Amino acid sequence: MTDKKKKVVIIGGGITGLSAAFYLQKEIQENNLQAESFLIEASPRLGGKIQTVHKDGFIIERGPDSFLERKVSAPQFVKDVGLASELVNNATGRSYVLVGDRLHPIPAGAVMGIPTQILPFVTTGLFSILGKARAAGDFILPAKRDTGDQSLGHFFRRRLGNEVVENLIEPLLSGIYAGDIDKLSLMSTFPQFHKVEQDHRSLILGMKKGLPASNQKHEPARKKGIFQTVKGGLQSLVDAAESKLDDTKILKGVKVESIVKKNAGYILRLSNGEMIEADSVIITTPHQQTANMLPDKENYQYMQEMPSTSVATVAMAFPEEAVDIEGNGTGFVISRNGDYTITACTWTHRKWPHTVPAGKALIRAYVGKAGDQAIVEQPDHEIISAVLEDLNKIMKIDKKPEFTVVSRWKEAMPQYNVGHQEEILEVKTKIMNSYPGMFLAGASYSGVGIPDCIDQGKMAAANALEYLKKATL
Ligand SMILES: Cc1cc2nc3c(=O)[nH]c(=O)nc-3n(C[C@H](O)[C@H](O)[C@H](O)COP(=O)(O)OP(=O)(O)OC[C@H]3O[C@@H](n4cnc5c(N)ncnc54)[C@H](O)[C@@H]3O)c2cc1C
Repeated sequence: MTDKKKKVVIIGGGITGLSAAFYLQKEIQENNLQAESFLIEASPRLGGKIQTVHKDGFIIERGPDSFLERKVSAPQFVKDVGLASELVNNATGRSYVLVGDRLHPIPAGAVMGIPTQILPFVTTGLFSILGKARAAGDFILPAKRDTGDQSLGHFFRRRLGNEVVENLIEPLLSGIYAGDIDKLSLMSTFPQFHKVEQDHRSLILGMKKGLPASNQKHEPARKKGIFQTVKGGLQSLVDAAESKLDDTKILKGVKVESIVKKNAGYILRLSNGEMIEADSVIITTPHQQTANMLPDKENYQYMQEMPSTSVATVAMAFPEEAVDIEGNGTGFVISRNGDYTITACTWTHRKWPHTVPAGKALIRAYVGKAGDQAIVEQPDHEIISAVLEDLNKIMKIDKKPEFTVVSRWKEAMPQYNVGHQEEILEVKTKIMNSYPGMFLAGASYSGVGIPDCIDQGKMAAANALEYLKKATL
């Protein structure tokens, strides 16, 4: 690189932008590079969808509450920002699925709903005999030899039948994407299941052989949970990362309104009227906002049209004795065929005991899913009463909540529908050709989970530095 410092600007201070900024700064410092970095965030705080509320001794997550431990980039990021001693795994317990008006334990050995142990599936009350017989068809059905994308619903219905999909797989998967299983892309969400079919024909036998496991298991006997968080709440991860960004200029409460190309770099127009120059730009904002910053946004139709679902989380605090919970349960998901507003519920004081004071219970319910988002627009009291009405049908609650925290997330869950991967590849190729040195990263592209976002942020930082090195050779 030349003597003049090259400038990398990161737009968006959610977990993707934070990890990009952190790893960019680390590389610049460790290798003494002639580069500097800026992080620009529209809101007055960093963290984006990560937000923790501390109230009356409770630690309440408004958005994400944890990440998968096996996706190593998240625990590594926690360690890199100095919070290794704060990592904590969830307490294990039974997870349930609500079908009709009954909570059924998720059968042991179910990996994202795919059976890997036969007996718990044979004995569960979740499926009829016919439904179980249809699922057993997976042992003999041939693999479908196509390489194109398909919906998760199509894939799983073909292998395991409608009943297993409706009563188990759909509620589990919708919980992650707040999406419509019959539209969500297999290749952009769980390509490993496609590989299992191609390699082993049978999903059940393939999963049993211990091949690429999915995101979640439901085995009550496991001692350590598969999820992790940080003891002080995920906001403390954001705060720790921010405190390490001592060599990064951070602008908060300032929106990037447009980006134009100038010579070999870019000029960013900010909402405070200022302009900022950049040699490389990493954009981590949700896709709709990203498209709007570009002068030729009409060339990025997919980014403008790709849907995102609105959801809300409703956290309710109770005295522990006021709520009657099944066994050692930690939560449940709900089949979309039921007549409920809530889509899932975590008995947070069971799953994350460190987040509640002694003698208290914390219940966190989700509302809003693809095709059914109107509830998110309702005033708090309407949402709260709909949630309480549902909870009262499912479990005994004999007191009013001591307090409630409602968090709305409008158009917050990007939907990776069939064809997403190809569309994103096309978008990124166009960006590469039209805007050299500009990189897109974040939940809209290659994974919505916190670890996926961290991976993308880190990769974008590496790409930006690589670009600057090449550009100045
Ligand atoms: C309710 C909920 C629960 C979830 N639960 C989990 C979970 O338990 N585990 C998990 O792994 N994942 C979970 N997720 C998903 C995960 O939280 C998100 O995918 C991830 O946090 C997104 O991070 P991001 O940095 O890509 O985007 P964001 O967090 O959306 O950050 C983007 C940032 O860009 C800023 N911005 C927007 N426009 C501009 C502009 N023009 N100029 C400057 N800045 C701008 C925004 O203000 C925002 O801060 C959940 C999501 C939600 C909504």
